[in-house]
Amino acid sequence: MTVGVIGAGQLGRMMALAGYPLGLDFLFLDAQAGTPSAQVAPSLVGGFTDPALLDELARRSEVVTFDWENVPAEALERIAPRTRIAPPAAALATAQDRLLEKQLFRRLGIPTNEHAPVDSFEQLVAAVAHVGLPGVLKTRRLGYDGKGQFVLRKTADLDAAWAALGGQALLYEAFVPFDYEVSMIGVRSLGGELATYPLNRNLHRDGILRLTRAPWRAPALEAAATRHVRKVLRHFDYVGVLTIEFFVRRGQLVANEMAPRVHNSGHWTIEGAVTSQFENHLRAILGLPLGDTTARGHSAMINLIGTLPDRARLLGQDGVHLHDYGKQPRPGRKLGHLTVNASSARQRDLRASALLRRIDSGRI
Ligand code: AMP
Repeated sequence: MTVGVIGAGQLGRMMALAGYPLGLDFLFLDAQAGTPSAQVAPSLVGGFTDPALLDELARRSEVVTFDWENVPAEALERIAPRTRIAPPAAALATAQDRLLEKQLFRRLGIPTNEHAPVDSFEQLVAAVAHVGLPGVLKTRRLGYDGKGQFVLRKTADLDAAWAALGGQALLYEAFVPFDYEVSMIGVRSLGGELATYPLNRNLHRDGILRLTRAPWRAPALEAAATRHVRKVLRHFDYVGVLTIEFFVRRGQLVANEMAPRVHNSGHWTIEGAVTSQFENHLRAILGLPLGDTTARGHSAMINLIGTLPDRARLLGQDGVHLHDYGKQPRPGRKLGHLTVNASSARQRDLRASALLRRIDSGRI
């Protein structure tokens, strides 16, 4: 049984690696050759809207899924009459546009920050007057890892912000002086079965996820995040894994964004949960029973960004699991991650900070 995947990055690669023990085959489609997924599975190389390639992908696949959310609507329209798509196209369309995403949060009663659409300099002035300062101007589409964002602290920043991002659909939102960030990963299967993972606590650096610790024991936040994720899953009749990222401010959640796919903050589930997010995504989209999402002990996941530390020295660290995505090094690029497991949250936190210090100082 073949699973078709649009986008062939590290998420697709980990999905394939989770699917092989279940007897599944994979076929990827990506604009580039030599991708992380193409190193472990067959891949079609060409434009995401190439009708012949999309037809071939659809013909050979039981179901088509994604490893990124910015799949063009045109590609989905081509595939839809030919095979099943999961997660649903409507969830992708919402996640592709930060304004639609925030409007959905509001509609479903999920707290989010003040925001206003910005299509002209005049609208930016009005949005800043309405939302206040400080705030963040973001591209509505195609932003990721903090790209396409400008923080405005004073009125004098308006010109520079407009010069940096003007000319495309934008969103201005209140800056949230958060205490920390968390995310919640949920999954809904073809048959409507629902499950959520324990809460993740996330640390970003330069807009890129650096560290995730899970389970993060914050019962009230976890209960609220679970409710919010379940609402979104039900709203879309969703099939597959979905993630919502939140800011935590004074003990309350503020939804930042959602991702209709497996997520970087869920990589710890490979070694740290009974069933990984990748396996559960596959089970969900194929209509198989979902696996147990319970954590096994306490995990920390550290992203390896820009350069990969020496493999032998990394593996020489007690309890470290390495995932090398097979990518060429480039500043700011996610090249791999490592996971450590511990028997207590305290031991996990100590290990994670020691590892981060050693990686940052080039000692491993
Ligand atoms: P995003 O691409 O929206 O996930 O933004 C990447 C990171 O930038 C977030 O995880 C936050 O650390 C930071 N960030 C984005 N938007 C805001 C905001 N409105 N207030 C404070 N920090 C933000």
